Amino acid sequence: MGLFDKIKQAFTGQPQEKTPTDVEETASQSPAEQPAESTETTEPVQFTPEQKETQKYDKGLQKSRKTLSRRINELFANFRYVDEEFFEELEDVLIESDVGFEATMQISNVLREEARIQNVRNMDDAERVIVQTLVDMYGETSPEEARVNLKINDLTVILFVGVNGVGKTTTIAKMAHQYKQEGKKVILAAGDTFRAGAIEQLRIWGDRVGVDVVSSKQGGDPAAVVFDGIKQAREAYADILMIDTAGRLQNKKNLMNELEKMKRVITREVPDGPHEVLLVLDATTGQNALIQAKQFQETTNVTGIVLTKLDGTAKGGIVLAIGKELGIPVKYVGLGESMDDLQPFDTEKFAYGLFRDLIEGTV
Ligand code: GDP
Ligand code: MG
Repeated sequence: MGLFDKIKQAFTGQPQEKTPTDVEETASQSPAEQPAESTETTEPVQFTPEQKETQKYDKGLQKSRKTLSRRINELFANFRYVDEEFFEELEDVLIESDVGFEATMQISNVLREEARIQNVRNMDDAERVIVQTLVDMYGETSPEEARVNLKINDLTVILFVGVNGVGKTTTIAKMAHQYKQEGKKVILAAGDTFRAGAIEQLRIWGDRVGVDVVSSKQGGDPAAVVFDGIKQAREAYADILMIDTAGRLQNKKNLMNELEKMKRVITREVPDGPHEVLLVLDATTGQNALIQAKQFQETTNVTGIVLTKLDGTAKGGIVLAIGKELGIPVKYVGLGESMDDLQPFDTEKFAYGLFRDLIEGTV
């Protein structure tokens, strides 16, 4: 069963199982239908962890969902036939949603083919086929759950790379918080010795989360911090060492050399490490994020992507572009600024958050 059918079934099969956000929206929009008793004084509704996650996606992707649904609905309203002009217009919508040129062309070719095979005659058919194909293609961006590669009963070393401001340090803090809650022992290494205040920022996060931070003086050798971090992690029998790095892409050659050196130290001390090299990308930078990814990929063997600030963009299509053009799995998505707004990437929840208005429209 494709992703579309799965999500659709969730709507039609069990209509009573609405998402927490739906409940909220309905409640605020139609107060007349609320029970006579005010719910304000009663116990807050307890959501399951699964519902809470769905809610995070729902909320974090709200801007993107509204924009995409509006654009696609406008498109269907403006055309009477699925002709060449229609597909060109659809391509524009996708490009404007940051789906990326290559991915857009691929999608639009598949859609043309599907429309032909399924012998689409009217706009209702077209809408169903197009939304279904789009959602199913989304499902293919990350067929298996893209989990972080964690060692069992041994030290896992995760290196974080990415340009300044994308969210590396806060992502490390959020992941450390989550791992700690799972009972894992986490140590952080302040490998951004370049930017003023970067070491202090990680220290503050370490204090808040309650994990140790290994650091040097500003301007120190990041590879030495990595060495110390591994040593301390080993001595403390830590499960996970997360290494922060500098992101001065304006001095690309130095940065890449520095990362290489850090990686060499890791591999020397932990032969099968680093177990993950996570590239952090800011979703609000759109196609620029793709360019950054390609630059890092040239010199660093990136194993996964953390896509932050999806809550701040109306262009959630960037996930599709990353999946189709880079071939690196997205492992985490940032859906807001609070600690548990960083979520392991889940294609189904993502597609649900991004497309649910459109899917609901194709009854
Ligand atoms: P770094 O330079 O890569 O280490 O970036 P920082 O971790 O310092 O983050 C830069 C800013 O981005 C901070 O203000 C973060 O709170 C913010 N940020 C990071 N992730 C997210 C996210 O998913 N959503 C939002 N809205 N802000 C985020
Ligand atoms: Mg930082």
